[in-house]
Amino acid sequence: MIQRTGATVQTDSPIETVQLDKSWQQLLSEAVSEPEQLLQRLQLPGSMQASMQAASENFALRVPEPFLKLIEPGNPQDPLLLQVLPQARELDQLPGYVADPLAEQSSNPDAGIIHKYHGRLLLVISGGCAINCRYCFRRHFPYQDNQLSGTQWQAVLDYLNEHPEVEEVIFSGGDPLATPDSRLIRLIDDLEQLPQLKRVRIHTRLPVAIPQRLTDALRQRLSRSRLQAVMVLHLNHPNEIGDELKHWLQPWRQSNITLLNQSVLLEGINDRAEVLIELSERLFAEGILPYYVHLLDPVAGAAHFDMDEQKARQLVGAMAAKLPGYMVPKLTREQPGVSAKVQLSPDLPDKS
Ligand SMILES: *Cc1c(COP(=O)(O)O)cnc(C)c1O
Ligand code: SF4
Repeated sequence: MIQRTGATVQTDSPIETVQLDKSWQQLLSEAVSEPEQLLQRLQLPGSMQASMQAASENFALRVPEPFLKLIEPGNPQDPLLLQVLPQARELDQLPGYVADPLAEQSSNPDAGIIHKYHGRLLLVISGGCAINCRYCFRRHFPYQDNQLSGTQWQAVLDYLNEHPEVEEVIFSGGDPLATPDSRLIRLIDDLEQLPQLKRVRIHTRLPVAIPQRLTDALRQRLSRSRLQAVMVLHLNHPNEIGDELKHWLQPWRQSNITLLNQSVLLEGINDRAEVLIELSERLFAEGILPYYVHLLDPVAGAAHFDMDEQKARQLVGAMAAKLPGYMVPKLTREQPGVSAKVQLSPDLPDKS
């Protein structure tokens, strides 16, 4: 068990800690963005502010309330805090850590389209995120040039018509669920008209930051779509599964929507086998299959999160030695110019 004390520890009546009165948009607009405010809110020493300031000017601090509630007050090493806390060392320039580690800007045929893998087209449908993760490989991505506007959406439909081999459209970002339901529903309406398409997939961390984002309107639209719907969540640590997420996720589990998770392996956050095993078990208990664990993409500012490849293979090996196969995610690394994500084999311990 991961021991944790804090605002949302389990009670006999889990609903007590669930926020029912605010919309996701309201929670999004009220996200904490000032270093001082974060420190006060979490009862952390004001002396931490100096280190946060410059880093947050480079890539803004952003943490919504539901995620904040999962962080243990007074603990500067909390694994959820470390994912969102700006730190001076992000500004260190280290060889090999670059602005566009996946060379995505070269597989960007049109604004908002990334066509890198056969049969799947990734669309950057939103520039925003509900939470700013310090390790994010897109922290320097030129979103302003890459958001799909109305006219560009027509260009996406044209591109799909010219590429009948594409069977799956992936909504990505930023975070695609930062987009209002009304717009998402219009996009799905249009995509359904393309007979070649079989699946629509959403890559999102928003429900982890603001579980209230799991609205009925979106769920019902996806559930009755001709397209098979897949939602790939992004959780890195078992503490990210709180009562609110469980509550809002519940109806999605019964809605014919495949739920998967991807994690990034992060030094100091999920770098122990017990943590990753607990994450897989808690994901599966909520109806989510662990899909991928990724090695960090070497983005400038995130070197301190980077995990050694050998250690990553041992961690996944330790998971495989303890868990049923369907709870062991694939370990992958992205490599520019290769036809799929590169899979690394787990390093299995001897049987004891
Ligand atoms: C990861 C990724 C995909 C999806 O790959 P899967 O292995 O099918 O999950 C598609 N396009 C891009 C650009 C990606 O990075
Ligand atoms: S794209 Fe995902 S990982 Fe990056 S900041 Fe947004 S939510 Fe976090």
